[in-house]
Amino acid sequence: MAIAATNFYLCFSIIITMVLKLHDLYFKPFISEEEIQNAVQSMVDAIVADLGDEMPVFVGILNGSFMLVSDFVKKYPKPCEVTFIKLASYEGVKSSEDIQRLIGLTQDLTGRTVVILEDIIDSGNTLEEVHRIFKNEKVKDLRIATLFYKPEAYDKDFKLHYVGKEIPNKFIVGYGLDYNGLGRDLPSVYQLKTTQHMTNIVLFGPPGAGKGTQANFLKEKYDLVHISTGDVFRYNIKNETALGMLAKSYMDKGELVPDQVTIDMLNKEVEKNTDAKGFIFDGFPRTNAQAKALDQLMDSKDSQINAMVALEVDDEVLVKRLLERGKTSGRADDADEGIIRNRIKEYYDKTAILKDYYSDQNKYFGVNGVGSIEEITVRLSAVIDKL
Ligand code: AMP
Repeated sequence: MAIAATNFYLCFSIIITMVLKLHDLYFKPFISEEEIQNAVQSMVDAIVADLGDEMPVFVGILNGSFMLVSDFVKKYPKPCEVTFIKLASYEGVKSSEDIQRLIGLTQDLTGRTVVILEDIIDSGNTLEEVHRIFKNEKVKDLRIATLFYKPEAYDKDFKLHYVGKEIPNKFIVGYGLDYNGLGRDLPSVYQLKTTQHMTNIVLFGPPGAGKGTQANFLKEKYDLVHISTGDVFRYNIKNETALGMLAKSYMDKGELVPDQVTIDMLNKEVEKNTDAKGFIFDGFPRTNAQAKALDQLMDSKDSQINAMVALEVDDEVLVKRLLERGKTSGRADDADEGIIRNRIKEYYDKTAILKDYYSDQNKYFGVNGVGSIEEITVRLSAVIDKL
């Protein structure tokens, strides 16, 4: 029983975070099966309440409405008839224009109550066609029911009698709706990701682990933007900005700069790169608050952190490396063994816990950070290639 429950939650969490690729585009989950079924039921309830014992003819608009019509009529508690019409392209009068017309209405609907079942109404062009072809049919009553409705896109005056769910003006697929032929078979609805697929990596490890060196190779190899918070602070110190002056007081002691200062700066750096295919974050996040802020930032871009790749190196090797680097780097925090040890202590006190944060999401990958630069690049690439 316990195992079954665990499996259920595992599957569930995989389903809700699953991103779909159809042709060249990525889609993220938007409306669940349950929500759809509830919306269909609410349409059924409203229509049956209005029509009472009148036997309606439900007319589905193919192809998109096939799933809706199937679920709808199964839920409809009284006798009804069902038929379909279809939008078909034919060459318009103007040579380049391709006009869509509804075809397939062969049944005599004189005197009948007709309910059009549409999967979605956005601009209302199809609805205009529906009204055009039904103008000559002598139906008793024509009602329009749509599962999804985009009020921001609708620019017609035709009344919509029944709406399952209003949605924002986003491109969606699933539950009968397609993108170039794909996606109709999905039982739930997905929304186009506005930011297309990015690879975002947190390069992790204690000071002196070689993050900056490796990031320089990886950014070229994977065409990613490298953001080192330490570098940005140092740039600001060199240019004597207010941010630089503030950061310097902490950095000189080997302490962390306060979270909000660092998070605001990181957000600005990311916003500067709107076209990035992804990011290598080096030196960020360093605290739980920063990790959460980074998740929020990625979420606002319809994206996520794919992995934390950590360079694992012993403390004594780190101290030796940093003292060596201090001879040429000009960095005050590399020159003094006491400050170096404080930086490593800050890492274990505040930053190392992030291993758990990413491990819990199955996103932590440790890599041996001792060896030649090339050897370590190969080890890191092996992890990134598998993402
Ligand atoms: P680094 O170049 O990554 O070793 O960073 C040098 C110093 O910049 C650190 O010791 C901190 O004082 C500061 N720093 C860099 N990144 C962060 C961060 N994410 N949070 C707080 N302080 C940071």
